[in-house]
Amino acid sequence: MIAAAAILTGTARLLRRVRRARRFDRVRASRKLYREVLTYWSGGIDALFTHLQHTKGWDRLARHVQGDAVDAARVEKALTEKDRQLIIDLLAGFSYYDDVETVAAAIVEATRQETFEEAAKFALRQLGIAAADFSLRNETIRAALLERVSAEIFATRNNIAGVMESMVRQFYELGRNPYDRRFLADLRQQLGDVTMAQAKRFALTETAIAAELAQLETFRRNGVQRKKWNALGQNTRPSHQAMDGAEAGIDEKFALASDDGNTYLADSPSDPSLPPHELINCRCWMSPVVNDEFQIDPERIWEGQ
Ligand SMILES: [Zn+2]
Repeated sequence: MIAAAAILTGTARLLRRVRRARRFDRVRASRKLYREVLTYWSGGIDALFTHLQHTKGWDRLARHVQGDAVDAARVEKALTEKDRQLIIDLLAGFSYYDDVETVAAAIVEATRQETFEEAAKFALRQLGIAAADFSLRNETIRAALLERVSAEIFATRNNIAGVMESMVRQFYELGRNPYDRRFLADLRQQLGDVTMAQAKRFALTETAIAAELAQLETFRRNGVQRKKWNALGQNTRPSHQAMDGAEAGIDEKFALASDDGNTYLADSPSDPSLPPHELINCRCWMSPVVNDEFQIDPERIWEGQ
């Protein structure tokens, strides 16, 4: 053990051997991304309120709603074509999200690599190695992380579309005078709450994607042969609960029998190739399948290269 430790050149040291499987703390790891996304999207709602103020948007919304017979049951129904056209008209000239590609890329850049590195270090500790200098330099993996920019753009557009739809619904439901300050304050609060929930879900899902990828790469590149799917139990999708304890070879795929009748192949839980209904908010996690004799070759520890 002493001889082995001496080989490690200050970047890593051996811990006691393989630890019991543990779950990476995604909630903590997702906080920075959550804050960044929430700040961005909240700014969008504020900008939208200002935009509607300047373009007589509140008037148009109120007139649109009053023009239709107000029907309480209508609130639950899908928006009509006319409603959708109104939303498009109201958003004309709204420029806050014009540079969404740039902002999304900056947020991904500022968060994903850090999450990957934290999760990789966590994975190394599970394998008995404390790596002080893990730093992701692998270009293929960095490129895979940057691909999440498209998900960030999609989620941002989805958020503003949802905000507009919710706004129209609120006008129908409450039928209140938009010049009533209280009404606008309540509306802002309600949209803020929805946006917080969406930002949280988004941040947790994206953190899970980066963390699971980090752990899979770390296990694979350090000689782990098999992996295991773990479900959390409470509030888990039945299809994921059924996967609890399932094993696969490190380069093989898990076969996830979805409630939608299809079987999806996944490298791990939170594999971004899974459809949204098998991906969003998934709290399942992967652990390495190794026995007590497993040891990383100290001269060949993968530290992000
Ligand atoms: Zn799951």
